[in-house]
Amino acid sequence: MTEPEKQKKLFGTNGVRAVVGKEMTPELVMGIGMALGSMRKGKIAVGMDTRTSGPALCSALKAGLLACGCDVVDMGVLPTPALQYLVKNHFDAGAVITASHNPPEYNGVKVIEGDGTEMDDEQTIKLEERLFSKDFNLVDWENVGTETSSPEMIGEYIHSITSAFPDSTETGFTVAVDPGSGPACLTTPDILTKLGCRVHTINGQTDGRFPGRLPEPSPEGLKALSELVISTGAAFGVAHDGDADRAVFVDENGDFLEENEEFALMQRFACKGKRGTVVTPVSTSQLVEAIAAETGTRVEYTRVGSIYVARKMLELSENGENVLFGGEGNGGLIFPAHQHCRDGGMTAAVMVHILKNEKKTLSELRKELPSHHMIKDKIFTTDAPALLEKVKTDFASDRLDTTDGVRINREKSWALFRPSGTEPFMRLYVEAENIEGAKLLYNEIMNTINN
Ligand code: MG
Repeated sequence: MTEPEKQKKLFGTNGVRAVVGKEMTPELVMGIGMALGSMRKGKIAVGMDTRTSGPALCSALKAGLLACGCDVVDMGVLPTPALQYLVKNHFDAGAVITASHNPPEYNGVKVIEGDGTEMDDEQTIKLEERLFSKDFNLVDWENVGTETSSPEMIGEYIHSITSAFPDSTETGFTVAVDPGSGPACLTTPDILTKLGCRVHTINGQTDGRFPGRLPEPSPEGLKALSELVISTGAAFGVAHDGDADRAVFVDENGDFLEENEEFALMQRFACKGKRGTVVTPVSTSQLVEAIAAETGTRVEYTRVGSIYVARKMLELSENGENVLFGGEGNGGLIFPAHQHCRDGGMTAAVMVHILKNEKKTLSELRKELPSHHMIKDKIFTTDAPALLEKVKTDFASDRLDTTDGVRINREKSWALFRPSGTEPFMRLYVEAENIEGAKLLYNEIMNTINN
């Protein structure tokens, strides 16, 4: 665990999340509103996902912001990347009430900076300090903020995506969409229809009880989407997590496209014929290196967490590098020409563009990827630092990367061993070209751990 993560007490990698009515209360969210309203001035956009607790918590957030003199513009229900896009273009900051992929009993807050990125560790620690010490700049009666609502602005986000593909209006694909009863119900079917697709939906009505599936778009939860793909003869199916910053796919046969393979296909599209850089955390598949070699691009690695990827992309761009693509191997992908955050709606649109241009099916494109096999495991421990040191020592003769935990790099395989940010276990990822290679390195590491 690195320093900033240790210092953050309430916020995790992507905002605060907790169970509603227990740790997640209107008091807490109003405090976050007052802390944010004390740090950022001007026009603040707020929004929420479809959770049942959204209106109660969003009202508390707005109360805190207004009481500190901020003018609040309520966007209603919308995907997190839609709010991020609108903040970047029109507002001084933003906040969204969401618990992303967590189950329905959770809710939380993501804080968005004026450039559309999630608040970084340093500023989040300052926000927490204000919250814990109740250091709020409440204003007098003449200076309290005003509240307006602009739910129609979601249309600007949809247009920003469809207008990025001006030649895609007659794609003619049939596609199946599973927004999981989340805010993407209001965006992805519309985006794909405007790109000339015939769209069928499942879990297409916003519903904070999530009657069809949980907000995490797991292969198990997407069986109904696979069936819809097959029964409608769709070219692909796309599903989102609870705030639609991630998108995952099933191919035309209804088979789940593993998220690292999704990353590789999108990377190939984003980098083809261009010189530049791809940014991803150390947990991403070695497919990223294979595609980088094929396209002649450079890979820059970061700590695990989309905010680190987004900030590194911005930083490299500011230093004059041509940053083409970024994201994580979990369906959270960043297309920097549009915005520097994960964007599920944009990812769905790019898939249409890829299939149209490659003139191959999704299963064919996946089969063309280099062979690879990944093992993921959890190691329970109460002394993560000691275990980490042991692995570092025992594998000292390998090429080690300590950006986040320890990554062991070999010719055709790699492993990442890192502490979970929040729970008493370590995550172990091992990958090689085939299952035998992956097992070999996995067993080597397990021998070290078990000794
Ligand atoms: Mg999410």
